Amino acid sequence: MAGPDGGYRGRFAPSPTGPLHMGSLVTALASWLDARAHGGQWLVRIEDIDYPRCVRDADEDILRTLERLGMTPDEPSVWQSRRESLYADALRRLEAVGQIYPCGCSRKEIADSLVHVRERHQTLGYPGTCRHGLNGKLPRAWRVRVPDGPAATICFDDRWQGRQCQNLETELGDFVLRRADGLWAYQLAVVVDDGLQGITHIVRGADLLDSTPRQIHLQRLLGIPSPAYLHVPVVVNADGEKLSKQSGAQAIDTSAPLDALRAAGAHLGLKNGERDVQGWLRRASADWMQRLAALPGA
Ligand code: GLU
Repeated sequence: MAGPDGGYRGRFAPSPTGPLHMGSLVTALASWLDARAHGGQWLVRIEDIDYPRCVRDADEDILRTLERLGMTPDEPSVWQSRRESLYADALRRLEAVGQIYPCGCSRKEIADSLVHVRERHQTLGYPGTCRHGLNGKLPRAWRVRVPDGPAATICFDDRWQGRQCQNLETELGDFVLRRADGLWAYQLAVVVDDGLQGITHIVRGADLLDSTPRQIHLQRLLGIPSPAYLHVPVVVNADGEKLSKQSGAQAIDTSAPLDALRAAGAHLGLKNGERDVQGWLRRASADWMQRLAALPGA
């Protein structure tokens, strides 16, 4: 797939739940390097629609840190909170073609008939209770139908991790696009925005690998071409937990930008002896494709 002008368009899409830490910096750096190595554009999109999780001013803090580290977006950044009407349009289009339905099940009801819990976005495997009607329950959330039979298995070739497949029917079930609390689900917003922004290459953390088949399913329903995917290994702390605000990740120290880049680069298998931020980034983007050539997805 190509962007509007035929070229590479990548993005970094942080949720402003706190300052940039080593885990999110690794993702930002990988997406920036991939864009530069392809002579492409690199955008930043602030994913701030899960309002209860957002932290005041974390968005500006992240943007300032990126700039301090020499990664400046090629277009003005966008905020998902200002784009909610676009998600509503997409939901209406899916409704018009009969692909979504209101669901009246509570989390407890779903948990009681549990298939299993997906870790990342805390999605409960859904047994399809409301597929054929609410049976007198009040509508709470909107769910999209997943395919049945062989079409339920969605595969993609990840540029870092190699081929990935997931059966949406047996591993997940119909999933939520609009939550019971009225908020837009990440899965819908990310697909709509990547499509409208003409993103051709998605580079992000491997904790989102298991969201990708859902996103490909939505792209197909909405007629959006699927981008290429590359999921970098997540950074873990001493206890093996993914670095995040919850697991106590430290904010990047912007007074030592080169040290931060070197540490993030080391996680990606990149090392160079340049002694200033611009020089380090230039060298790292020159080395990036060679680094990728050694991976399972190559
Ligand atoms: N906003 C998501 C996060 O910070 C990332 C979304 C994406 O890159 O697709 O986890």
